[in-house]
Amino acid sequence: MLSPRPWVMEARRVVIGAVVLGAIGYALGSPATALLAGALGYLGWHLRQLYVLQQWLAHRKRRPMPKALGVWAPVLDSLERLNRQSRKRKRRLRSFISRFEQAAGAFPDAAVILDIDGGIVWLNHAASELLGLRYPQDLYQHVSNLIRNPDFVDYLERGNFEEPLEMPSPVEDGAFTLVRIVPYGSDRRLMLARDVTRLNRLEQIRKDFVANVSHELRSPLTVIVGYLETFSDEERVPAPWRRPLELMSQQANRMALIVEDLLKLSRIEHSPGEASTNAVAISDLLEGVRSDALGLGESTHRIHLESEKGVRLLGDYNELYSAFSNLVFNAIQYSPEGGDIWLRWKLVDDGAAVLEVEDTGIGVDEHHLPRLTERFYRVDKARSREVGGTGLGLAIVKHVLMRHDATLEVRSQLDLGSTFICRFPASRLEAIELAEAGEEPTPAALEDASGG
Ligand code: ADP
Repeated sequence: MLSPRPWVMEARRVVIGAVVLGAIGYALGSPATALLAGALGYLGWHLRQLYVLQQWLAHRKRRPMPKALGVWAPVLDSLERLNRQSRKRKRRLRSFISRFEQAAGAFPDAAVILDIDGGIVWLNHAASELLGLRYPQDLYQHVSNLIRNPDFVDYLERGNFEEPLEMPSPVEDGAFTLVRIVPYGSDRRLMLARDVTRLNRLEQIRKDFVANVSHELRSPLTVIVGYLETFSDEERVPAPWRRPLELMSQQANRMALIVEDLLKLSRIEHSPGEASTNAVAISDLLEGVRSDALGLGESTHRIHLESEKGVRLLGDYNELYSAFSNLVFNAIQYSPEGGDIWLRWKLVDDGAAVLEVEDTGIGVDEHHLPRLTERFYRVDKARSREVGGTGLGLAIVKHVLMRHDATLEVRSQLDLGSTFICRFPASRLEAIELAEAGEEPTPAALEDASGG
């Protein structure tokens, strides 16, 4: 802060100057003229100081601080102090940025900073290797002009970055790159990319291995199951052998079911891209699933069906049938006899449609829910085996839904029941004519469905 002392001195100088000039003017016979000349001179001096200050501010990097007199001296001192502080801050910031650039440069993954329109603001060394971007030539260019993969362009345009995107590498044939975009600040996006070729290869080896093993086991198992069944029914088999043969037959059947489910799962996994888009009448499909389920053993469950007949799902009939029947069979297997099961196919507010399978069964404790769709994950292994479960049903459901751009939500309460909710986006729905449907769908819902 400026001390008041220079101002006191300045005031004193002004008063003394005015008195001296007044006296001289008085002696010369015109004190007013002398005072006016003095005031003009004083004003001129201040204007000159202001000019010097302005010139110095404009060229302060190249010019030394000018000498100032009177009240201007402390003003210039304060400005010089501010100037020094700002230079120090800039130096610190520059060194921080250079350290950040060194760290980001050593980062093995590609990092690219984008502005809100997708223009490249900065990129590290790995971005040149993994994405083929050049520094500094590609700065301020739109990233989708340089990475032209349609999936990437679409991903960027959609602006939903919750899930990463896997795409073929823009620089190497046969390689794969995983891209993740993280918005930050008010108008910046950090794009990270890594090479996932090795991981993909391992995943492919795993899938092929499971598919091959299942395939190879299928034929011998069919033979074993066949013979065991024949022996179990054979009158001549000695009595002590009957029970072991029956158990062997049960276990061989279980193995055959597991192999079938593994093959089903690997067929779905190996199918390229998304599921086909045939218009599937879900209400008819659910009727089929219901009659299959009611035909199961001596089940006494009641299955209630509520469905929006005016909306069809664009997808693969067989895959959907397999997924929905897994959910319904589970609802039966994990509910006590006589329990109620509801199947609901309906449109929801945002134009999406959901299939709900609700039961009043044993339920699942909350901490199991995130793992239910893992292969062979069972809450109660013994019970699953007892009801003939393979541990693969929900994994199949999850894969089928993924191929239909759909998601699975599970709500469950122990001893009260569970609801499995499959949510299909509006883009997978088709509204059909009222006459064709035979029942009136809600007009608003139809608009939603066709609008998506
Ligand atoms: P499984 O062949 O064992 O039924 P799934 O993958 O179909 O295998 O299901 C995994 C596990 O999820 C089951 O073992 C069971 O513990 C639980 N589960 C599935 N559906 C239900 C349900 N409707 N009610 C309670 N538990 C369920």
